[in-house]
Amino acid sequence: MARTSTAPSTVAQEALAYCTSCKMDLAHTVVAMKGDRIAKVECKTCKKIHVYKAPKGITEPTAAKPKKERAKKGAAAAASSIEAEWEKLMTAHKDAPFKSYTTKGQFALGDKIKHPSFGDGIVGRLIFPNKVEVIFQTNVRVLISGGAAR
Ligand SMILES: [Zn+2]
Repeated sequence: MARTSTAPSTVAQEALAYCTSCKMDLAHTVVAMKGDRIAKVECKTCKKIHVYKAPKGITEPTAAKPKKERAKKGAAAAASSIEAEWEKLMTAHKDAPFKSYTTKGQFALGDKIKHPSFGDGIVGRLIFPNKVEVIFQTNVRVLISGGAAR
């Protein structure tokens, strides 16, 4: 009745296995044995129980490939449509005088603003209670104001 001191894999023991869901080698918990072989394992990452698969030496998921390459074109298109909008507004309000922008200034829709760092803009939206959305030549900015002019 001698017991072996080098115990083979047993249930509840940890084993490195290839996870078919995560698609990489991960630590698993053995949930079922077949003789002295691991039959089923539970992935510690996704918690799925699956048939034991020997590690494949893959430590990064192979499936998902990043798709991040369109942002620039979209931004450029947005910028040019802002510029078109800005030109249209500037033409529509060409007779209106420019107001110097200050955080305490009161602005109304369509007011033209001279901003020390952003340049010429036009008030496109009033945001209650103390902000204005100003369309500048190449971008739209929300600025603090002293409240809407009445
Ligand atoms: Zn997994």
